[in-house]
Amino acid sequence: MNPTFTLLIVDDEKQNRALLTELLQEDYRIILAKDGRQALDRAREHNPDLILLDVLMPEMDGYTVIRELKNDDRTRNIPVIFITALDSAGDEERGLELGAVDYISKPFTPAIVRVRIRNHLQSVHQRRLLEQMAMLDSLTGIPNRRRFNEVLEQEWRRCMRDNAPLSLIVVDVDHFKSFNDCNGHAAGDEVLRRIASTLLASVRRPGDFVARYGGEEFVMLLPGIDSEGAHLLAEHTRADIEAEQIPHPTSDASPWITISLGGATRIPQECAPVAELFCLADTWLYKAKYSGRNRVAWAPDSASPA
Ligand code: GH3
Ligand code: MG
Ligand code: MG
Repeated sequence: MNPTFTLLIVDDEKQNRALLTELLQEDYRIILAKDGRQALDRAREHNPDLILLDVLMPEMDGYTVIRELKNDDRTRNIPVIFITALDSAGDEERGLELGAVDYISKPFTPAIVRVRIRNHLQSVHQRRLLEQMAMLDSLTGIPNRRRFNEVLEQEWRRCMRDNAPLSLIVVDVDHFKSFNDCNGHAAGDEVLRRIASTLLASVRRPGDFVARYGGEEFVMLLPGIDSEGAHLLAEHTRADIEAEQIPHPTSDASPWITISLGGATRIPQECAPVAELFCLADTWLYKAKYSGRNRVAWAPDSASPA
């Protein structure tokens, strides 16, 4: 089991906290809370992978704690196991109905507690892997459109807070249909993989982000860089792809595989929806296409919002 999992143990009795800590500390990072209020604070602060929650506690009982956890976006998805001296079927039902994933009665058998926790954490691990896979494009291994939409929203808000520019570049492979027609779909797939890795290699700053938007279209998101810098990066990326010299005899743009890029830079404003940045970059992509392909077209900076 992955030792980097973090467990939050909530129990008002010191002896119980010590018992569970001793049982689990070899396998997991342990955080302790001695009452409901502290449990909520620590859950928000540490974002544990699993919470072991006592039911009977003074002031705030475990049922109230789980209700609050489920009412908060930050803690809603953390699985909770009740560990309690209450052992009637009604208590168990109530705990499970409030969203606990399991219910363990005290006194417990240490080996069973360990196995149950391990099983729940395995499900957490599996779910995370699936979530990650759902965000990746299976052909190229880079983030997909769904992930891009999330990151675009996040960066838009972050740049708005920081009053910083955000640049978006939309990339489309030139005459890719005829490349497929001449060389076959498998060769086309290989080109898309190579383009993905060249685009990735062309961005260097930690906040930069590249995704496959769909088909033969990619997007690059560059926060905190002005339009000259982003435009220059787009131009270098265009040149890098052409310099790979992947033959494309039926293209009228070049003897090689090339890309067209449309870009725009804006400082996000409250009154402007994020979708406008995408529309703008996409509009300029089409200008790049119609003015001959294998080029970058960049939306002029504007004093008004995107
Ligand atoms: P333009 O320069 O105007 O962009 O022309 P184009 O031929 O690239 O554009 P069009 O939209 O007509 O064709 C896109 C092609 O991209 C058609 C499709 O077969 C190909 N394509 C889309 N997704 C994939 C893929 O996953 N693998 C392969 N091999 N080809 C793909
Ligand atoms: Mg296209
Ligand atoms: Mg194309």
